[in-house]
Amino acid sequence: MKTSAQTSAPTSGSGPDSLLPSGPQSLLQALPRIGPQTALFLDFDGTLADLAAQPEAVQVSQDLVPALTQLMTRLNGALAIVSGRKLADLDHFLAPLQLPTAAEHGAQHRLASGEVVKLATPDLQEVARLSTALAQRHAGLRVEIKSAAVALHYRHAPELEALALQVMTEAASSTPQVELLCGKYVFEVKPAGISKGSAIEAFMTAPPFAGRIPLFAGDDLTDEAGFSAVQRLGGHGIKVGEGATLAHYRCETPAALRQWLQTTGHEQVLTPASNERDNPTERINT
Ligand SMILES: [Mg+2]
Repeated sequence: MKTSAQTSAPTSGSGPDSLLPSGPQSLLQALPRIGPQTALFLDFDGTLADLAAQPEAVQVSQDLVPALTQLMTRLNGALAIVSGRKLADLDHFLAPLQLPTAAEHGAQHRLASGEVVKLATPDLQEVARLSTALAQRHAGLRVEIKSAAVALHYRHAPELEALALQVMTEAASSTPQVELLCGKYVFEVKPAGISKGSAIEAFMTAPPFAGRIPLFAGDDLTDEAGFSAVQRLGGHGIKVGEGATLAHYRCETPAALRQWLQTTGHEQVLTPASNERDNPTERINT
C-alpha cells in the first residue's frame, strides 16, 4: 500500500507553486478570465455545489446546468468535471448534461467523444469488509462503495478520525495496488497512481483540451494534485474556500464560483487569449 502524497497538506516553499496562506483572500473580480483558449476543469462537491450532510443530499443550484451548458458551447467542449464521485452520481446531479468527466479521481474517465474508459480495479473486498464492520459499530460513520474505490466518511463523527484512519490504513496495507487518500472528513482507498492531476493531464493530451490553457477549481486536499498539474501546464488553480493551497487563485464559496461561471459564460465579447497569461500574482487579492 502506498500513501498518496495528497494525504497531507502541502508544505510551503518558494516559486510559483508556493502555498498561499489560508483564509478568505480573494474577491470575485480577482479570478482569472475564461477565454476562448481555456480548458476548464471543475470539481463538484464543495466547488460547484455546497457540501451537504450526506453526499446524496447535495442540492444543485438551478442556475448551474444552464451556466455549464453555455460554457460548453463557448469553449467548444473543453469543459470537464473532475471529481471523486461515481460517474452515475455526477450525471444524476448534472442531468441532462453528460460532460467529459473524470470520476473517482480518474478511475472512470468519460472522454469528449462520450466513450467511457475504466481503469483496472484492484480487489477491494477486504477494504469494504473492514470499513463496513467499523461503520456498523459506529453510527456516525458511513461507507461508500464505488466502482473502483471504497470511501469511509466521518463527517458526523469527527472524533473517530484517528480510528477511521487506522482502520483504512490497515485495510489499504492488506491490498495490493491501492493507496489511501484523505479528503474532507473522508478516507478513501483507491487504485494507486491515479489522481485528479493525472486525470487532467490525460484530458489535456487530446482535443478539444489539448493546446489550451487549463483552469481547475476545487476545494479539497485531493484537488491539490489538480492544481499542481494545471499550473505545470501553464494554467491556474482556483481554491474554493479556506485552507493552505498550491492554487494561484482563491474563491470564497461555491456560490461565488458559480457566479463567476455564469458571468463569464454569458459574456458575448470573448477575452483575448493574450490576457490569460497575465501574472496571476497581480490579480490575487491578499
Ligand atoms: Mg470537492
